This record gives sequence, structure tokens and C-alpha cells, in this order.
Amino acid sequence: MSFRDDADRTVAALQAYAENAAQRNRPVLSQTRITDLAHDLDLKMLIAEGGLEGNRLQNFLDRYLTAATCLHHPRYMAHQVAVPVPQAALAALIDGFTSNPMAIYEMGPGAAAVESVVLNWMMEKIGWRNISDARTHGEGVLTHGGSIANLTALLAARARIAPNAWTDGVPSNLVLVCSSAAHYSISRSAAILGLGASSVRLVGSDPLGRIDPSALARLLAKLREDGKQPMAVVANAGSTALGLFDPLREIAAVCRSEDVWLHVDGAHGASQLLSSRLRPLLDGIDEAHSVVWDAHKLLRAPLICAAVLVRDQGALTAAFRQEASYLFHDKDQPGIDFIYRSIECTKAALGLKIFFALAYGGESAIAETIEQQADLATAAAELLGATPGIEIAVKPETNIVCFRVEGPDDLQLAIRRRLTSDGSYYVSTAEALGKRWLRLALMNPATTLEDIASLRTEVLRLRNTIS
Ligand SMILES: *Cc1c(COP(=O)(O)O)cnc(C)c1O
Repeated sequence: MSFRDDADRTVAALQAYAENAAQRNRPVLSQTRITDLAHDLDLKMLIAEGGLEGNRLQNFLDRYLTAATCLHHPRYMAHQVAVPVPQAALAALIDGFTSNPMAIYEMGPGAAAVESVVLNWMMEKIGWRNISDARTHGEGVLTHGGSIANLTALLAARARIAPNAWTDGVPSNLVLVCSSAAHYSISRSAAILGLGASSVRLVGSDPLGRIDPSALARLLAKLREDGKQPMAVVANAGSTALGLFDPLREIAAVCRSEDVWLHVDGAHGASQLLSSRLRPLLDGIDEAHSVVWDAHKLLRAPLICAAVLVRDQGALTAAFRQEASYLFHDKDQPGIDFIYRSIECTKAALGLKIFFALAYGGESAIAETIEQQADLATAAAELLGATPGIEIAVKPETNIVCFRVEGPDDLQLAIRRRLTSDGSYYVSTAEALGKRWLRLALMNPATTLEDIASLRTEVLRLRNTIS
């Protein structure tokens, strides 16, 4: 069999997978035991004997796709992972085939050009490409996900306040400020960066968990009084559990007067910059020192690509120092070596996935989908909130809806277990505002309000059978 035949076979299988899912003809997910799956997929035999082509490939694909968690199913409502623009998956194929480790320009000029244009496009959306003002010029790099992007941004913050930390280690009085709604990668970053997780100080918030700017001012003043050095303030745009946006403009004003680095974790919500209607939630983002923005969430790019963006030219390069004679030496430089800004050495052509997602229908097509999914979340929250026995957490600000049935936290978990074990709906769960919620991330443009209505019926039925 030729590569071409096997590729045709693979594309046909993927197309059938998506069409079948759209018809709601299969479970959204099934949790087969890993050992059974490994056996069923004949993995050991194929490694030993080879021959993964033709009919063997077909058999493998059929079983693998049956076992896959099906994001293309309209009742996939669980996690903040995009259902990619199908054509954007071609970027993953091209990257896999060409395998250009583009962090060094000479190892992938096309990929570096794409990454640089995508990063500039993002920085324009933030409002940073004002070339007449040399300071607001921006610098960025794409990473394998928001968690590494957060770590990278906070490393840049560390380099600003403690430039010697790279060689001498971290001063013991550095602290990191965020709210209790921050993603777990923030406290992980504090631990990885050598501050220690206990150096994370939680700032007071409003009743919905959004940072209270005056509480922030008080906390920063208190920390200084206690001899601490705030390395950065991390604001959410939007938060992981509830999808809420912190008041960035007011937070930025506090950070400016205290001269503290402001990092905006926009892994989920920065994409709402594309929508003129939703953009006001991000007002003030241009005043941040750094922003993280995932493209595999709301930009409909395939796994996995996130941007770390800094406002001040050079602030990201300052985060790293390096010595490796095989990479770093004098050479002609017609492009950019992203390697100076990145934790990664061999780096994939992540920009290609974002570019394909944007360039298939143009950026306005993505903006429309973002608005459509936010509208669906609003309608879903209204529907659920109007149902006796169901409570919603907040009015959605993005495509995330949290709700719960009357009853204890355990009941919510029991309902989710039943939904996922029969594979009829895939929803997630989160704790926020002191309670456990069932959580919908409405990522699939094929999900309808009827899907939400039938989920509601099923949830109420399960509540009666369980309790
Ligand atoms: C998803 C998310 C992250 C983590 O990003 P990954 O790409 O999953 O590593 C961090 N912060 C927020 C607010 C997120 O929504």
C-alpha cells in the first residue's frame, strides 16, 4: 500500500467518524479498561510484526475511533477543548510529515514565518502592535499549551524582578498573587519556578470570585509592609470553573501604581477579543505585561497550541539564558530563532494549526462561532435556571455553564458518573462558590438548545432514581 492509499483510508475513516457523531449514532465516550483496549487494538502484535497499512490499518482505525472520546458528538459538552476546523487537522499532518523543528529558523523558515505572523495577529488583537511606541511592541512564542505558557510568562516576570534568580536562585521574599479561581497551573508554576507553592497569596474577590481591585491594592501594600516582593499578579480572562473575567482595567491600574507585573491568563477567554460584542469583557488587557492565549480552546485549532505574549520588547528573551555551541553561534539570520524565548528546543510548527483554523473561513468565521457558543450558553443557563430543582451558578460570560440539582455535592458527582458511564452525555464538574457543580463547556457548534433540554430531562430523571 502506498502512503497515499493509507492517507485516503484514514481521511475516509475520520470523515465517517464525524458524520456518525453528528447523527448522535454513538456514545460520546466509553471508558473501556485500558488493558482490554490495548488487547483489542492488537498493539503488541503490531509492534512486533508491523504491517500497519491497508486492511490492518483499516481495522486499527475502526477500533481506535470507536474508543476515542468523541468531541464531534453534539452531546460533548465537557472540557474546553476545541472541535477543530476539519481543514486545520491538515496542518497537523503537514507538520507531522515535514517535521521541521522550527525554533531555529534554518530548520523551518515556513513554520517560523507562520508563527511570527500568527503571534503578531494576536498582539494586534490585544492592542500591542503600536510600532510608533517602541515599548508597546510585543514579543511572543507558541508553546504546547496554556500551562507551559503560564510558566513561561511567569518566568519572564521573575526575570524582571529578580534578574539574578537564573544564576543565584530565587530570593526568599518573592510572592505570587492570584485569586482562588486561578487555574492550577499558576500554583504549579510558583512551585516549578522555585518560589514554592506556599508563596501564592490569594487576593479577595467579589461574591462571584472575581478579583476585587481595592482588595488587591490592600494586599499588595500589606505584602510590602511584610517585606515581601510581589513578582506578579495573575488575573483570569475567563476563569476555569465559571468562565468569569476579572476587571482587567482596574487591576492594571493597581499593578501600575504598585509597579507589579500583571499577567492575564486568557487561555480560554482571550479569543473573545475577536468579537466586538464580547471584547469589552477584556477591556484593559492591553495594559498587561503578559498574556496567555490558547488556540486549541476557542480558536478551533487542533491540539495543542498556546501563545505566551509579552507587551515589552525583549521581556521574553530576558527570561532565558543559554549555552549550546551546536545551536548558538554566529550565522546569517534572515528570520527569527524562537529558541531564545522558549522552554522547548525541538519545537513543532504550532502556528500552522492556528493559521489553518483561521485561514479556512477567515477570522470572522471563528468570531461568529465564538458568539454563537456564548449565546448558546446564555440560553442554556436561562433554560436550566428557570427549571424548578435546578440552580445555575452565574450568568455566563463565555461558553461555560455551571448548574446543579437540589441536593448535596455527592449527588452532582453521582449524576455525572451515570451520564458518562452510559456515554449519553459528556459533562464535566467543578467546585466554585463553595459548591460542586455540573459544568458544561459548549465547544461543539453542532450542539443545540434541544441537546441541553434533553440533558436537563435526563439529569432530573437521574436525580429521582439516585436519591
Ligand atoms: C485551559 C486553561 C489553562 C491550561 O491550559 P492548557 O492548554 O490546558 O495547558 C490555564 N488557564 C486557564 C484559565 C485555562 O482555561
